[in-house]
Amino acid sequence: MQTTSAIVLGSGTSTGVPVLGIEYPAEFLANRKNHRTRPSLLLQGPTGNLLIDCGPDLRDQLLRENVLDIEQVLITHTHADHIMGMDDLRSFCLKYHQPLRIYAYEQYQLDIKRVFAYAFADFPPGVEVPRFDLQEVPPIIKVGGLNVETLRVMHGPLPCVAVRVGDFAYVTDVSEIPAEAMSRLQGLKTLVLDAVRYKPHPNHFHFDRAIEVALQLGAKQTYFTHLSHDYDHDKVNSELPAGIELAFDGLRIPIGT
Ligand SMILES: [Zn+2]
Repeated sequence: MQTTSAIVLGSGTSTGVPVLGIEYPAEFLANRKNHRTRPSLLLQGPTGNLLIDCGPDLRDQLLRENVLDIEQVLITHTHADHIMGMDDLRSFCLKYHQPLRIYAYEQYQLDIKRVFAYAFADFPPGVEVPRFDLQEVPPIIKVGGLNVETLRVMHGPLPCVAVRVGDFAYVTDVSEIPAEAMSRLQGLKTLVLDAVRYKPHPNHFHFDRAIEVALQLGAKQTYFTHLSHDYDHDKVNSELPAGIELAFDGLRIPIGT
């Protein structure tokens, strides 16, 4: 039986870091924590797991972390950096001989059906395509021995799903946390929070705002994620207030349930 934990599969913003076409100082590239794949997180329960988002780096992320099974999937919203790896879920559909359970808000289910139309089409036997069992996001997702609470936050004008399980929460792609979600994010040991870049952003918390919200929520430890190349990991970490650090790809966080 595995321990309950979260793995940051990807700590990067939509471009990933390094960004294509940009030349970086050798010292920046030498730190592997400055190499950030697209945003995704895995919740590992005692008997199974929940994958949160499927960006274009999904395959590499799962191989890197030796993840052999995915029980269920939550799509926080359908921007490209969160869904463009969904085709790779095909391997798990084939492994289990059944469609994979995918939770997404109804408006996002329509996007998934449009982008991955072939996953819902008829094919002759022997043709392998992913199959998705799309479900509305319930208040609590029961998976792998975990009760994962879902919270609605705003990502610019769009809703986005945040989650809380035990003393841990993951709030990615957020520009506003409504009062109800704020009240359900109290008393955390660990919070993983969007802090996309230094400059303000209409659809994301930027650095200063993320610090404000992190201090307001008062988790014992906050990790910033969805990070652009603004952040040189070790340098920024040394300047952040106590209890706030940058996440990095492969970060493992124990969860108390
Ligand atoms: Zn994103």
